[in-house]
Amino acid sequence: MSKLPFVTKEKVEEIVNQYPTPFHIYDEKGIRENAKAVKEAFAWNPGFKEYFAVKANPNPCLIQILREYGCGCDCSSMSELMLSKAMGAVGSDIMFSSNDTPAEEYAYAAELGAIINLDDITHIEYVEGILGKLPETMSCRFNPGGIFQMSNGIMDNPGDSKYGFTTEQMFEGYRMLKEKGVKNFGIHAFLASNTVTNEYYPMLAKQLFELAVKLEKETGADIKFINLSGGVGIPYRPDQEANDIRVIGEGVRKVYEEILVPAGMGDIAIFTEMGRFMMGPYGQLVTKAIHEKHTHKEYIGVDACAVNLMRPAMYGAYHHITVLGKEEAPCECKYDVTGSLCENNDKFAIDRMLPKIDKGDYLVIHDTGAHGYAMGYNYNGKLKSAELLLKEDGSVALIRRAESAKDYFATLDCLPIYKEFEF
Ligand SMILES: *Cc1c(COP(=O)(O)O)cnc(C)c1O
Repeated sequence: MSKLPFVTKEKVEEIVNQYPTPFHIYDEKGIRENAKAVKEAFAWNPGFKEYFAVKANPNPCLIQILREYGCGCDCSSMSELMLSKAMGAVGSDIMFSSNDTPAEEYAYAAELGAIINLDDITHIEYVEGILGKLPETMSCRFNPGGIFQMSNGIMDNPGDSKYGFTTEQMFEGYRMLKEKGVKNFGIHAFLASNTVTNEYYPMLAKQLFELAVKLEKETGADIKFINLSGGVGIPYRPDQEANDIRVIGEGVRKVYEEILVPAGMGDIAIFTEMGRFMMGPYGQLVTKAIHEKHTHKEYIGVDACAVNLMRPAMYGAYHHITVLGKEEAPCECKYDVTGSLCENNDKFAIDRMLPKIDKGDYLVIHDTGAHGYAMGYNYNGKLKSAELLLKEDGSVALIRRAESAKDYFATLDCLPIYKEFEF
């Protein structure tokens, strides 16, 4: 199966006249179509809201597009809260799903009127201590432990994850919150990551809906929303079949009608916090082949490195690669595609069959729209790339400039070294 980029060789040759490689480019049309599909898939639930996981891609120009489809912001740090505020997303447009949270972040989230989603039972008193009085609406993050397994064998390991309340703590936590005056309750859980199956949300929903019925019955808490969080995956590999968000939405509706409606809880809002699914496929890293090296293996050196996209180095994650202009050429060469970090794991692909690559060829690394640029760092003194938006009319806008050496040295302004250079 082929997986084609949303930019052509001709388009990239035009873009590089103004913005040199490497850069991440995003596809406005794709982002819009997908955001619309998500909205429609859950339109059966009047309270539905997707809180885009800002950590996946904290570019305000992109988040602003999602906001047109009713999305809020899922934040977990001070800077993410500030970014949301700057975009006009405040109050119930912010879900604050953090963990190991510093006091000042809770204080700021409360100041913005964000919905606070607690990661731990001890945070009830912690937040009360900071704010004096708890907000009227609060959510708790649930972690049932054990292993979460779906019928196609995909699984994840909540028992090994640092997040959330245990089942008993959910009951105890709800009682405590109720005693302390909280009126509106939410449940949140994130039990499996990058699930490329339509089954995950419905399975998770069933578990959370059953818990909600018990929680409401035993504690008398008024549950207003259930947050299915993130974890809906994308097909990084060309042989994977994409999730169908309409099927997922219908699957959740079915369990909603089976469990919540008969319990008299048919007014609960469904929230999501998708990051990867909202943005992943609509970003690509464009880089140029600058070296080829023939030693014990065949290497292609490109002008991007793990600083621009960390997932392959960090998790051994697969990202599909297209050599622009050679989309139809046979993949008859086996390469390691490397960046320039002094780290042997700085490889975008290992033993990958690709068309013969010549120096100067442009490579598109697919699916970098989520957890791509956002995870970037500055190891080896490497600078972060620009981000571009391919607009619906075919024009290209710079939505974040490339970092310069001046940016890199900016925090050293106390030292004379910084003054050595004319910026
Ligand atoms: C990372 C994260 C998300 C988004 O996850 P995706 O896999 O990108 O959908 C949502 N909620 C929380 C709390 C997260 O930490």
